[in-house]
Amino acid sequence: MSYELIIVGGGPAGVAAGVYAARKRIKTLLITESFGGQSTDSVDIQNWIGIVSMTGVELAERLEKHLKAYSDDVLELKPHVKVSRITQLKKAGEKGGPPSRGRSPLRRGEGPLFEVETDDGKKYQSRIIIFALGSRRRKLQVKGADTFEHKGVVYCASCDAPLFRDRDIVVVGGGNAGLEAAEQLTAYATSVHIFELGPEFHGDKMTQERVFKNPKVTAHTNAETLEIKGDTMVSQVVWKDKKTGETQELSVQGVFVEIGSIPNTEMLKGLVEMNKYGEVVIDHKRSRTSVEGIWASGDATDQPYKQNNISMGDAVKALEDAYLYLQKLK
Ligand SMILES: Cc1cc2nc3c(=O)[nH]c(=O)nc-3n(C[C@H](O)[C@H](O)[C@H](O)COP(=O)(O)OP(=O)(O)OC[C@H]3O[C@@H](n4cnc5c(N)ncnc54)[C@H](O)[C@@H]3O)c2cc1C
Repeated sequence: MSYELIIVGGGPAGVAAGVYAARKRIKTLLITESFGGQSTDSVDIQNWIGIVSMTGVELAERLEKHLKAYSDDVLELKPHVKVSRITQLKKAGEKGGPPSRGRSPLRRGEGPLFEVETDDGKKYQSRIIIFALGSRRRKLQVKGADTFEHKGVVYCASCDAPLFRDRDIVVVGGGNAGLEAAEQLTAYATSVHIFELGPEFHGDKMTQERVFKNPKVTAHTNAETLEIKGDTMVSQVVWKDKKTGETQELSVQGVFVEIGSIPNTEMLKGLVEMNKYGEVVIDHKRSRTSVEGIWASGDATDQPYKQNNISMGDAVKALEDAYLYLQKLK
């Protein structure tokens, strides 16, 4: 099957691009493993502008509903499918021209062509692509972390916090995600320690104030997690106070890990320019990548603020620019 545009991703960025594409009547295929993206895990999103508070699941439902309202012969959806490979079949301006982030060498009728392969063995072609691949949780790389995953080592507080009633917990990571996890855990756990590796916590000041005033919470800075120990389940965390050099053991039954994320960009290696973190390098004015005909937006790119609203805004920029680009091909 051949399309003008393929969008990969069904988080805020992918859905924003999809809605705009449908409204501009661009023949589009949107492929995604899931709808809603990462904040589906959040129990309370308070900064979706226009809605004071909603859960991540509610956001996911709203995004899917909005997209499906436009799904027709112009916008086709392929949910629950993973894209596994991208091949550039034809480059724009094969004879050579300026790089994609500069002026396009495109003439009428010319243009790139891409093939997208999915894990159900299907192949789709399109003239242009918008990637909105997002990211996934970074795993804790210390002795015992793999062994005790799902046996006390947890990567989703909102999913598993209720399982830790009357337990002692450590949350590894002092950014917003770590603080939010700690806050959720205080509803169930007896005590919650938060380990921040650096000298300061990174989360919003308001969230810090709210979390730290809870008597169940103990905050540690310069705290390096060294090992997770246990028998069949987690029973202890070994950690070092980097300031004093002292190593200590803390008795806990749960280790909640919130140490950032890894962009889902492995399949783009060698295709578009990426930075050392594996994020797609984009032109922040128009969300173009280093390859003409490919745009990217959201958490999988090198834009520094990983937020729903920003991911959507960047996707809209990508779509607007992509639309103008497609007009030149007609
Ligand atoms: C626990 C938590 C709470 C958060 N709370 C907030 C908040 O309150 N406010 C806020 O603004 N931000 C919040 N964020 C950040 C916000 O979720 C992200 O900035 C946002 O989701 C990024 O959107 P995205 O579309 O770029 O990527 P994602 O949301 O990660 O979506 C990526 C999409 O791509 C799909 N995908 C990935 N790879 C493939 C593939 N190969 N094939 C097909 N589909 C693929 C995925 O299934 C997913 O649908 C939170 C994040 C977390 C983890």
